[in-house]
Amino acid sequence: MSTNLIKINYRAYGFLDFGAARAEKIETVRPRFEAFLAEGRHGEMGYLARNLEKRFDPAQLVPGAESVLCFLVPYGQAGGGVAGFAQGVDYHKIVKDRLFAVIEELKAAFPAFEGRPFVDSAPVLERYWAVRAGLGFIGQNNFFISPDFGLRTLIGVIVCNIPASRFAPHAPLAATGCGACGACLRACPTGALRAPFDIDARRCIAYLTVESHAPVPLTLEERQGWRFGCEACMQACPWDKPLTPLPEFETHRADISALAKSWDALSDTEFKQRFADSGLLRAGLEHLK
Ligand code: SF4
Ligand code: SF4
Repeated sequence: MSTNLIKINYRAYGFLDFGAARAEKIETVRPRFEAFLAEGRHGEMGYLARNLEKRFDPAQLVPGAESVLCFLVPYGQAGGGVAGFAQGVDYHKIVKDRLFAVIEELKAAFPAFEGRPFVDSAPVLERYWAVRAGLGFIGQNNFFISPDFGLRTLIGVIVCNIPASRFAPHAPLAATGCGACGACLRACPTGALRAPFDIDARRCIAYLTVESHAPVPLTLEERQGWRFGCEACMQACPWDKPLTPLPEFETHRADISALAKSWDALSDTEFKQRFADSGLLRAGLEHLK
């Protein structure tokens, strides 16, 4: 192995796994993505239809991009009808801060470093890149699945000008794929997951309770108790496994569980105070109620 490799101490930042993919234009998944948009399956998520050239070409995000570095970030179980990723502080800033710390390490090893961190906030196909980096595969429920760590990971990304060959390749995966499982399709309460890999976001509880601004058109019972997000197709998956989350991702867990049956009694002012740093603010109290 070359002694010229750059080693990132990713575990020190709380990341579970790391891999580097060569930055290049994405051709393969674009037709499927465009068909998804053409059918309007993205609902109100208009941002998905914008910046397509950037989404499919990392060099449009970082001129001179050579690699897409992918980091898996663990979160915990759902609770109180709220998805696991939303049990603490809004993850965007938490993960980005850690990626900035990695960038400092990279600059020391590669002084000509140019690059940017991304966490679910820019037109980046994180799951695609995590697969290309050798970290896992995409399940029929459209989640990124790490055979080692399961489904409960966010993906932080750094697009940069360091050649991917400067990082050791990820170890080969022992096993991947869904086989003949199909459990996620059977578990979806609304039929939003209408075929393998084929989701209609407009019927998805996660979309309706997190992304959409319209009143949620399903009763709490029809949503199987989900108030923010939905994990039915995740929890059904045999690859799902519990992880030790970043501590910041757990800070509201007790509060959310305590409120599970009393959201209606909470005032907007109190909600904004108690959840000021939480992703739940995005949905707003009325949506949660
Ligand atoms: S998140 Fe829930 S509603 Fe959406 S596809 Fe999965 S199981 Fe279906
Ligand atoms: S539940 Fe089964 S079919 Fe669905 S993603 Fe997991 S392994 Fe694949």
